[in-house]
Amino acid sequence: MTRVPHDTATHLRPSRAVALQTPSRRLPGRWRQRLPEPDAYYRQHVPSLGRAGDDGWAQGLCPFHDDRTPSLSVNFDGRRGGWICFAGCGKGDLVAFHMRLKGLGFREAVRDLVEGAR
Ligand SMILES: [Zn+2]
Repeated sequence: MTRVPHDTATHLRPSRAVALQTPSRRLPGRWRQRLPEPDAYYRQHVPSLGRAGDDGWAQGLCPFHDDRTPSLSVNFDGRRGGWICFAGCGKGDLVAFHMRLKGLGFREAVRDLVEGAR
């Protein structure tokens, strides 16, 4: 009489094994401090940006609509990188801008900004 070794029957369930291999869904550590400088980031992605005024805001063509007058204002003071489109595209911070520009979710945008090639 042959017995089937118990081990062969108790392999990991496929779903459990896949879950263990899925990369962490956590955000990169200290990601807020590792975001690019708003000045460098926005000048790369909005080439039409002018010089920032005394208030720290610079104007350029909005990439989210067919802009002919510089409707986009971005803020270079601090690291948050606030932006607003006065033609109605909305406003947000640097991460929100990147999400919209690249069509990414929040986590993907943060990872792309912190770990991706710039
Ligand atoms: Zn706009």
